[in-house]
Amino acid sequence: MARSRAVYSALRAGGTEAAGKEPARTTGKARGDLAERLNFDLNEEHRATESLVREFAAREVAPHIRENDAAKVFDRAILTGLGELGILGISVPERYGGAGLDYISLGLACEELEYVDTSLRVIMSVHAGLNSFSLLAWGSEAQKDRYLRPQAEGKQIATYGLTEPDAGSDAVGIRATARRDGPDYVLTGEKHWISLAEIADNFLVIAWTDPDKRARRDHSGLSAFIVERSFPGFESGNMTHKWGIRAGNTGWFRMHDVRVPAENRLGDEGEGFKIAMFALDQGRYTVAAGATGLIRACRDESVRWARSRTTFGQEIGRHQLVKQMIANMERDYEVSRLLWLRAGELKNRGRRNTRETSLAKWVSTVASERAASDAIQIHGSYGYSDEYPVGRFWRNSKGAVIYEGTREIHTLMQADYALGYRRDRPTRVSLPAPEEH
Ligand SMILES: Cc1cc2nc3c(=O)[nH]c(=O)nc-3n(C[C@H](O)[C@H](O)[C@H](O)COP(=O)(O)OP(=O)(O)OC[C@H]3O[C@@H](n4cnc5c(N)ncnc54)[C@H](O)[C@@H]3O)c2cc1C
Repeated sequence: MARSRAVYSALRAGGTEAAGKEPARTTGKARGDLAERLNFDLNEEHRATESLVREFAAREVAPHIRENDAAKVFDRAILTGLGELGILGISVPERYGGAGLDYISLGLACEELEYVDTSLRVIMSVHAGLNSFSLLAWGSEAQKDRYLRPQAEGKQIATYGLTEPDAGSDAVGIRATARRDGPDYVLTGEKHWISLAEIADNFLVIAWTDPDKRARRDHSGLSAFIVERSFPGFESGNMTHKWGIRAGNTGWFRMHDVRVPAENRLGDEGEGFKIAMFALDQGRYTVAAGATGLIRACRDESVRWARSRTTFGQEIGRHQLVKQMIANMERDYEVSRLLWLRAGELKNRGRRNTRETSLAKWVSTVASERAASDAIQIHGSYGYSDEYPVGRFWRNSKGAVIYEGTREIHTLMQADYALGYRRDRPTRVSLPAPEEH
């Protein structure tokens, strides 16, 4: 049975203790009336997922995270654990080996994972958000069978390779090329700052297939490919100087004339840019939900400290300026959560959500950086060390303000939407709503 075994058994056992009496489903046939849209109750399946992931992260990861972060160790056992729970394929349809849960469940899982450490949520962002959903939406049945199924089952791990030494925000500035040669494409180029670069089995790679269009910076000359680590000419390494998300793996890979069969091209030739941007719509959603969990972690650690530390004869939580920082965290947590839930609800309805997902990602990641900085401030000198987790939270928070669209890129996007300079046009392919699974 492909569907998350653990979620199923929790539901069979009558749900979790947290489960509500009247589950208010957000999946099922599309509903449009305002009352239902304003219903933010989690259903039984959502609560079961939330509890399951929360318990897993607290039991399997939290006890070792400080040590692994300090030693820069990526613990592969976490992948096994996430695979056994069914989380790696959480919103992939059951017929492709996934758990078939909706996108709110995915967001909840990301929030719970990042509550413990950003490195856990990053796994979901690249494996599920950027890679697997791209295969689900754009892949052929043969590609889904060969790659999506083992990825959803947690038997293979996947990531996404867009960024290069000379191009990040400016995706059209990449140099990697894919030259057609008989039944294959021959891929050459280097990608860096790639999450799970040394761990993943499969890579979604964006490269130029049309040199003339490259010269004109016409993004319809880009194509997307599924590249296996095992293909000859593929090489990867670690980025050892990274100072955040240290319990995660981040690295580079090089392709030296890697022969990729034409059947591994995702989508049509020339659709690489659209696929790269589609992938970001899903990856950013996981980042937004995760950053929301990080704000909650900052709030909880800050409240704990503010209730135990005393100065001038009272708990520091009694001082107005400390209250201000805690209040900001509370506000930012609630705002960020509503924003990612809205984006998730749009995904559940199969509606375009590039604008809403960008807003959720932008607001939550910037707020998480502020929350982590204030959490250190509340801890005073104790926060300025690895003795307490808030320093790790701050180091981790910064990455998400850079990847999957920097703060500045999302600022420009939101301004352009408001000004009417940017409009989302219909795409050939969209993320299937859960009821279509
Ligand atoms: C921990 C981590 C994990 C990552 N994982 C992945 C991954 O798995 N796969 C992947 O493909 N990439 C990954 N990345 C790369 C990431 O997506 C890029 O770093 C990001 O897109 C920014 O690109 P850049 O670093 O080249 O910065 P640049 O694009 O060079 O930007 C530098 C600065 O200029 C600003 N800037 C750029 N253009 C504009 C503009 N038009 N207007 C205003 N300001 C502008 C930026 O906001 C930024 O402040 C990861 C990065 C990190 C840190």
